[in-house]
Amino acid sequence: MEKKGILIVVSGFSGAGKGTIMKELLKRYDNYALSVSATTRKPRPGEEEGKEYFFKTTDEFEKMIAKDELIEYAKYVDNYYGTPRIYVEEQLKAGRDVILEIEIQGALKVKEKFPDTLLLFVTPPTIPELKKRLVNRGTETMDVIEYRLNRAKEEAKGMDRYDYLIINDELNTCVEEVHRIIQGEHRRSFRNQEFIENMKRELKGE
Ligand code: 5GP
Repeated sequence: MEKKGILIVVSGFSGAGKGTIMKELLKRYDNYALSVSATTRKPRPGEEEGKEYFFKTTDEFEKMIAKDELIEYAKYVDNYYGTPRIYVEEQLKAGRDVILEIEIQGALKVKEKFPDTLLLFVTPPTIPELKKRLVNRGTETMDVIEYRLNRAKEEAKGMDRYDYLIINDELNTCVEEVHRIIQGEHRRSFRNQEFIENMKRELKGE
């Protein structure tokens, strides 16, 4: 059977817990690879080069764009964010499912370029719960919380362009659900054309 990985894009409201879900998914199962993006935003305390992001100057980032080294890129607030091509291609070829944790403009660009991409959107069960999680994080000022809620309003407009909604109510249940969705996705007939063709050929006695 064809052993090519699936490209998976995960977006969601800030505070929906997508980062936590992905980290847990990678810890539990070893067939997933998480792409590390390049960005011009400054590192936050505790962030390391090559772990959360590859931190670039605007000049370096624009050179990456010019050399076509990014699958997609977008401007979010005042910074560039983009997905380096090499890692994604290598991992997919090696049969791993590659996860991109990116915002919606980038997500839709990836889907346009690679129509087989699986799009997942993570959300808390309700808006009061989303607000509660943003406030409880304790790391953000009221201004930032307000900004992110406004941003959520914008992102909600694109929710129905995603293949699945991931309702993050309880972490463990949610991680298992994401894993099952991806496993199910591997069984879609359009992802198994080679297998189908082989079966047909064998049945014909070729
Ligand atoms: P943050 O600055 O909070 O780490 O990320 C801000 C937003 O940029 C998040 O929604 C995150 O998912 C998104 N993002 C991170 N990396 C990329 C990327 O490579 N491309 C795009 N389009 N968005 C990204």
